[in-house]
Amino acid sequence: MSNVGARKPEEIALDMTQRILQIKWQDGHISQYGFDALRRACPCAECRPWTHGGGAVGVMPDKVRLATGDIVSPQDVSFVGSYALNIHFADGHTTGIYTWPYLRDICPCPDHTAQRAAAQSASDLRQG
Ligand SMILES: [Zn+2]
Ligand SMILES: [Zn+2]
Repeated sequence: MSNVGARKPEEIALDMTQRILQIKWQDGHISQYGFDALRRACPCAECRPWTHGGGAVGVMPDKVRLATGDIVSPQDVSFVGSYALNIHFADGHTTGIYTWPYLRDICPCPDHTAQRAAAQSASDLRQG
């Protein structure tokens, strides 16, 4: 799990028909992100002020609401150095910088979903 070098994308593809961003990682793992989920998971300060020291503690992630219609398709995807992806969405939002660790964190595959659920219940136990 310490092999950070393996946690980089080898291949990135946009499937505009299925509305999926697919990343094949160097360790062979494949992540498929729906456009809506990707837009909702935008980590920028505008979308998630509570994670950037904005003081809005307690604001729930579902505060990030999407307008209806196809406004979340990525129009452009570019690399930020060698550590992240910058996605330009059709709603004009261009500030989302998705680092590789972040993208791995939000990987929606069953394995990672189960891992996150396990980590979450472990932290619930610690807090409770
Ligand atoms: Zn954002
Ligand atoms: Zn995964």
